[in-house]
Amino acid sequence: QSLIIVKDLGRKYVIGSEVIHALKSVSLEINKGEFVALMGPSGSGKSTLMNILGCLDTPTKGLYILNGTDVSHMTDNALAEVRNQEIGFVFQTFNLLPRSTSLDNVALPLIYAGVNKKDRDLRAKTALENVGLGNRMDHKPNELSGGQRQRVAVARALINNPSIILADEPTGNLDTKTSVEIMGLLEEIHKKGNTIILVTHEEDIALHAHRIVRMRDGLIESDQPNENIKSVS
Ligand code: ADP
Ligand code: ADP
Repeated sequence: QSLIIVKDLGRKYVIGSEVIHALKSVSLEINKGEFVALMGPSGSGKSTLMNILGCLDTPTKGLYILNGTDVSHMTDNALAEVRNQEIGFVFQTFNLLPRSTSLDNVALPLIYAGVNKKDRDLRAKTALENVGLGNRMDHKPNELSGGQRQRVAVARALINNPSIILADEPTGNLDTKTSVEIMGLLEEIHKKGNTIILVTHEEDIALHAHRIVRMRDGLIESDQPNENIKSVS
């Protein structure tokens, strides 16, 4: 049932004679279907932890077991494969290809997965319809609002049926109303059984999650269920 098991995880950076312990010792278990918010001040280690959870980086100490596989010491190539299969990313800055349509942006991960063009387009179309953008398939990012761009990014994150959605400040570039809409979309996705880990420094946004993990100085300071779930649906 544990999708993520992290034990005594450490990550240090060595720059010349200086050693920075970005993560000192982090232990965490996340079950399938959880919606977790990761909070903490700047420099507390959130990005470092998310990079490891997202298989973009490996720890210098401890264990990370993802969906039953020990990914703590994998080569970059093996890690990339796990990442493409298991992780969907949503970023603050959307990270869409500017010259590509919504449909092509959403279909992109399926190229790496070896899906043929016809099935790619079909699945991307359905994914866009599912986030309410059935009428924006042929639009490019600069022809969309911020909220619509983030919906495209969410559809892209989901297209491969990943085990986990990692959302790093997904509302950081959105106004309040649009932020609430995007959180509503993430809640819908969570209700369908998806596992979501969300980094945010906004308490209001974190209140949409069911569990709140707070970091400080490379350690977990608290890890509690959210008693005040703020549902928008
Ligand atoms: P955020 O707090 O928004 O997640 P970053 O993760 O970009 O910000 O950076 C947090 C801190 O980590 C900053 O102080 C930055 O200088 C430092 N940092 C990030 N990447 C590097 C790097 N490659 N080399 C040295 N310091 C870095
Ligand atoms: P947060 O995301 O909570 O702001 P980070 O994980 O970015 O925290 O940073 C944790 C600590 O690790 C900070 O002291 C930061 O300066 C340092 N750090 C992060 N990335 C790097 C890096 N690539 N090289 C050197 N130091 C880094």
